[in-house]
Amino acid sequence: MRRKLIAGNWKMYKTAAEAVALVEEIKKGVAGAPGETLVAPPYTSLVAVVAAAKGSPVAVAAQNMHFEKEGAFTGEVSAAMLKDVGVSHVILGHSERRQYFAETDEGVARKTKVALDNGLLPISCVGEKLAEREAGRTMEVVGRQVDAILNAATADEATKVVIAYEPVWAIGTGRTASPEQAQEVHAMIRAKVAALDATIAASVRILYGGSVKASNARELFAMADIDGGLVGGASLKAEEFAQICAAAG
Ligand code: PEP
Repeated sequence: MRRKLIAGNWKMYKTAAEAVALVEEIKKGVAGAPGETLVAPPYTSLVAVVAAAKGSPVAVAAQNMHFEKEGAFTGEVSAAMLKDVGVSHVILGHSERRQYFAETDEGVARKTKVALDNGLLPISCVGEKLAEREAGRTMEVVGRQVDAILNAATADEATKVVIAYEPVWAIGTGRTASPEQAQEVHAMIRAKVAALDATIAASVRILYGGSVKASNARELFAMADIDGGLVGGASLKAEEFAQICAAAG
């Protein structure tokens, strides 16, 4: 049985003091929530949020990571640095990174492998653009992105990878994939994992992301292959995020 995971992506919002205030509210709101809860603040707030979340059921993720161990990569942060500050997860290949920072399938796959090698749990993101969906290319595009991620991991490692399906046209737009649209893609992703190993496919978590709100979370999370959500905008509002977490029952 897969436990649902609700992950909040705070993007480039919140100073450290604001981030601590938000995680404190979230801690209160998700006490007793049925699934796992995770927040991903900006790098500058990680130390403070890890300290504030300690001993609570709220896990902490980074939003990105470089694939090299160290080196002359100005502005970048390594897996070891993230481990050092105490985060457990890292979001990789978010569509905003693919779109604005030229991240590729190959780079996301490499980062996924490096995260696993360093004991970080990757939340690796995939998703098609609107033009790709309209051209009937959703399965091809998402399938290619998933293949790249799975090729980077051994079967054992694949159980630790969380895949987030986030149709690009639904992120931050208020436009959500219908539960049926999302389920169709999630089922395809799980079938790809099953082609490697059926047991792993049964345990791997596939999150939906794209304008998840308190008003639509329950119907999305009720679908057979949707194991929780990656939530952007609504994760910045403690009360609404808590309601989304409560919908994961
Ligand atoms: C996201 O940032 O991953 C996301 C899904 O954003 P939103 O929920 O705001 O669409």
